[in-house]
Amino acid sequence: MPNTLDQLLAANRKFVENLPLEFASPTPLSSKPNRRLALFTCMDTRLVSFLEPALGIRRGEAKVIKNAGNSITDSFDATIRSLIVAIFELDVKEILVIGHLNCGMAEANSEQLKTRMIDRGIHPAAIKVVEEELEKWLDQFHHPEDNVEKVAARIRSSPFIPRDVPVHGLIFDPHTGEIQVVVNGYESF
Ligand code: ZN
Repeated sequence: MPNTLDQLLAANRKFVENLPLEFASPTPLSSKPNRRLALFTCMDTRLVSFLEPALGIRRGEAKVIKNAGNSITDSFDATIRSLIVAIFELDVKEILVIGHLNCGMAEANSEQLKTRMIDRGIHPAAIKVVEEELEKWLDQFHHPEDNVEKVAARIRSSPFIPRDVPVHGLIFDPHTGEIQVVVNGYESF
């Protein structure tokens, strides 16, 4: 039985041999998103190959940043850094924060995570160092909608994000594909 990596590599060889037409562009795509969009969303598996088509976004059109629960916990975290690159190096002009219904982060809590980490051999001293951050991150996530609102506001008020970049907040239904607007970025300039 081939292991996971072997399975993936076998799939890759087949894929490259018969590259689907949609990916076989005669001219290479630019790394700059041609619709000038950045999406910041959750790593949830149900969003893969579903969220972008549900918004009419195709390959080459948007930067996509993901993490668990599309969360931002401090003023210069990895997402803010990625957005800075997206805006100042890659011409992004509009940001969409997209949470989703049934986000697993609403169920997560720092106590449970810490216990599971320790059970798997993570050193308690290492956890102690990030304990406060873990709590700030996991224990304040109760509703995906509230989180989207909070995160959009955090990006909007970041000293590193220009005022002329609208920041929208949306909620995606991972079953129906429907989008609801939580924050209309054009109204919150
Ligand atoms: Zn999620």
